Amino acid sequence: YNSTLAAVEDPITPPVSVKYNQLLINGQFVDAASGKTFPTLDPRTGEVIAHVAEGDVEDVNRAVSAARKAFDEGPWPRMTAYERSRIIWRFADLLEKHTDEIAALETWDNGKPYEQSAKIEIPMTVRIFRYYAGWADKIHGLTVPADGPYHVQTLHEPFGVAGQIIPWNFPMLMFSWKVGPALACGNTVVIKTAEQTPLSAVYAAKLFHEAGLPDGVLNVVSGFGPTAGAALASHMDVDKLAFTGSTDTGKIVLELASKSNLKPVTLELGGKSPFIVCEDADVDQAVELSHSAVFFNQGQCCCAGSRTFVHERVYDEFVEKAKARAIQRAVGDPFKEGIEQGPQVDSDQFEKILRIIRSGVKSGANLKAGGDRFGTTGYYIQPTVFSDVQDDMLIAKEEIFGPVQSIFKFKDLDEVIQRSNSSRYGLAAGIFTHNLDTANTLSRALKVGTVWINCYDVFDAAIPFGGYKMSGNGREKGIYSLSNYLQVKAVVTSLKNPAW
Ligand code: NAD
Repeated sequence: YNSTLAAVEDPITPPVSVKYNQLLINGQFVDAASGKTFPTLDPRTGEVIAHVAEGDVEDVNRAVSAARKAFDEGPWPRMTAYERSRIIWRFADLLEKHTDEIAALETWDNGKPYEQSAKIEIPMTVRIFRYYAGWADKIHGLTVPADGPYHVQTLHEPFGVAGQIIPWNFPMLMFSWKVGPALACGNTVVIKTAEQTPLSAVYAAKLFHEAGLPDGVLNVVSGFGPTAGAALASHMDVDKLAFTGSTDTGKIVLELASKSNLKPVTLELGGKSPFIVCEDADVDQAVELSHSAVFFNQGQCCCAGSRTFVHERVYDEFVEKAKARAIQRAVGDPFKEGIEQGPQVDSDQFEKILRIIRSGVKSGANLKAGGDRFGTTGYYIQPTVFSDVQDDMLIAKEEIFGPVQSIFKFKDLDEVIQRSNSSRYGLAAGIFTHNLDTANTLSRALKVGTVWINCYDVFDAAIPFGGYKMSGNGREKGIYSLSNYLQVKAVVTSLKNPAW
């Protein structure tokens, strides 16, 4: 392993301190009604970073009433769309100004390399908010040429109170995908952050208020899923729910929503995405792209290209080069320069990944690299590569959400289409080929929400993202995301003089 960058036993002191550890309700920082807190931990060491207010049912109730009041009586849905747009834009500017601090919080809480927080995640978050600031004053209905003496128009109206539940893998980016469109469409929001990573979103929400956001429009509740999360999903006064997380939890929130007030739910769930290396591929380029497709963000991406299918003609060379690349991967303290991979987010994920790796070895896959923890402190895992993976192995089916590449051999296109589509998931796919016919055939045949051809993880604000099958429903980002947060009202007016 890349030993010059290996030191993890002596963690670097983060260049930031925790300013906000309470709930943000109705524009005010408050403790949980119960007075309870929970520790958020540093994945480099398992040590406590800070104690954070533990929101529960009563706090969700308070936050939802603040959001309700802000929607029913407050200025937010009544101000001009241009004024709303300017507040969102001002917030994006403030966020950009505070990039270093928020990026450091993100890295400390989540474990991702600081360079990636500061150069990728926070800038993308800023971009998302600017994109939605741009939408706020461009949302409008249609006139409809109905039969009969009627003037028909549609009004696009906000739902009201949007409840949102986000995961820990990209805390700020997930915050932006949820909050950006909801606010641009004129809704008010209660968002529950992930218990592993509560620090950055509440900081950002504070900046939103500095940018002029009225009180109660954006409320942030930290806390656990079965308590605070479930309270939000089952709340009778939440008009719309958006969830990102695992497929199992997605089923739970959908049930809670249906058992309460039947609020519409959009879901962004798990994946087991294929990355297909075709026979014409330049092997070095394919190895590099497939490596980043699976290892980026410690492998903690819903769309990780975690099934690498390689054509038999280039398979042997590919496997050896993929192994060499994994061994070269710079693992270490995420605050250190040049680091590609930090620790996994917490001990649960760490244990789960090691368990799945062990099952891979046991089931007869060929362990080419890694396979164990990295160092002796925290939740670091060696970049791991398996070859000769068979479709029925656990490592081929289960979402690992860790730095583990599984390589499969294939012979022809029909076969790889069938095997790619055999997953219960359908989030994304990568295709590596310069053959136009192959690219067209694959991109049309794969049952997934995103196809990346000769690229991967391209997450522009304007590109819609979401899943087929058990990877979820609805699309985030882009123009498609607006419909998640808008009701369509048809207004039919009888015409007195239909001749005109
Ligand atoms: P998770 O489902 O355990 O948690 C996600 C969120 O749901 C957290 O805020 C959690 O507190 C909350 N939650 C948990 N139980 C709940 C309950 N009973 N009621 C209401 N809320 C509850 O998922 P995770 O392990 O934190 O995140 C990883 C998963 O998220 C992976 O499966 C990954 O694929 C998926 N993910 C998907 C996307 C996407 O866009 N499709 C993006 C990121 C992560």
